[in-house]
Amino acid sequence: MNKQLTNDQLTQWDHDHFFHPSTHLGQFARREMGNRIITGANGVHITDREGRSSLDAFAGLYCVNVGYGRTEIAEAIAEQARELAYYHSYVGHGTEASITLSKMITDRAPDGMNHVYYGLGGSDANETNVKLVWYYNNILGRPEKKKIISRWRGYHGSGLVTGSLTGLELFHKKFDLPLDQILHTEAPYYYRRDDLSMSEEQFTAHCAAELEAMIEREGADTIAAFIGEPVLGTGGIVPPPAGYWDAIQKVLNKYDILLIADEVVTGFGRLGSMMGSDHYGMKPDIITIAKGLTSAYAPLSGSIISDKMWEVLERGTDENGAIGHGWTYSAHPIGAAAGVANLKLLDKLELVSNAATVGKYLNETMTTALSEHVNVGETRGEGMLCAVELVKDRDSRKFFDASEKVAPRVVAKMLERGVIARAMPQGDIIGFAPPFSLSRDEADKVVEATKESVVEVLGQ
Ligand code: PLP
Repeated sequence: MNKQLTNDQLTQWDHDHFFHPSTHLGQFARREMGNRIITGANGVHITDREGRSSLDAFAGLYCVNVGYGRTEIAEAIAEQARELAYYHSYVGHGTEASITLSKMITDRAPDGMNHVYYGLGGSDANETNVKLVWYYNNILGRPEKKKIISRWRGYHGSGLVTGSLTGLELFHKKFDLPLDQILHTEAPYYYRRDDLSMSEEQFTAHCAAELEAMIEREGADTIAAFIGEPVLGTGGIVPPPAGYWDAIQKVLNKYDILLIADEVVTGFGRLGSMMGSDHYGMKPDIITIAKGLTSAYAPLSGSIISDKMWEVLERGTDENGAIGHGWTYSAHPIGAAAGVANLKLLDKLELVSNAATVGKYLNETMTTALSEHVNVGETRGEGMLCAVELVKDRDSRKFFDASEKVAPRVVAKMLERGVIARAMPQGDIIGFAPPFSLSRDEADKVVEATKESVVEVLGQ
């Protein structure tokens, strides 16, 4: 589907008819901002219609984990489409692809998590999770235990419940969100702690105490679950402070509150471990998976359910009939075939261990290259995730005024140097989440482009 139209035609139709997500609609319609039409990709590079090649250091939206142009996955998709493009998974139906994938996912999940419900994206998977948590507490005869606690700066999607779970202002403003049953507690963001005298351990204890205070205030019998990403992603790429998950988990256990680990970004290798839950010793009741499940070669998400919850769900259907939750495209055979091929490729090419070693190298070289710059407040990361936080003043840790658009300007300069990074929302944070196949030379190129662009925008 390339080169059938002229660039002018495409650009006009784009500005006139395409409602782009997360885009300034007015500026786009008035052509105050440009478009970019992507035509192809290979390895860690994408190409646009102008023939420009860019090293994609954000793997799309941290999803093309195995890299672009993997013919093994393309062929698995084509073969599945030829044999059986679709059949539903209601009332016990399935395909070899969806059954095989369920086994492969649960083999990679933490112990005691043995069932997978499928969706299409991270948002709908988290909607599923909230419904299942509510159903679970109804079956247990606890109809009041329904609120979900999320964190400020958490990202869990853009739906009604999931947009509410997301703790970023832009996703609430003018949408009448968050909904009543969703609460937000302190972000585990050590660099942005109010009291700078706190050690990491003290800050962890503070986050756990804030959570406990919220539970006590609301009443534990009204709180059903806590949701969190092992490493905060869209909210700034922030690894948790030392001991965080252990401390949070203790509070949740004390008040009989379920834990949903949103591993849409971290699942299947991004932290250099197969699952982020195992990486941090978390014991979730549900894990959300999406992006890395198929490396975005086809849309597919899932909710991995613990045996503890599963027993109650089974009991619920014994008492009430079939579970009233279904999507037409749940376990779509093409997505499932892509998932099987993708997970096989991750193993065959040992990409998770490459994410660990090259990710560490990327983080170390980024820190060495940038941490002395007066406007670099912090460089941080875990596995193949990295962030550079820019500040107006290092001592006060003040952000630049948003109207200065510092991070977007740096990212634009990086693009001119042939490297794609992402300006994260809420603060001048430049995010990196390259494909796991990134080489050390490519990591060097990313660091060099970042350093040169920071210097170009902010001076030495
Ligand atoms: N959860 C997390 C942690 C995410 O990062 C995202 C998307 O970036 C989502 C959920 C939502 O996924 P989707 O955009 O596929 O609906």
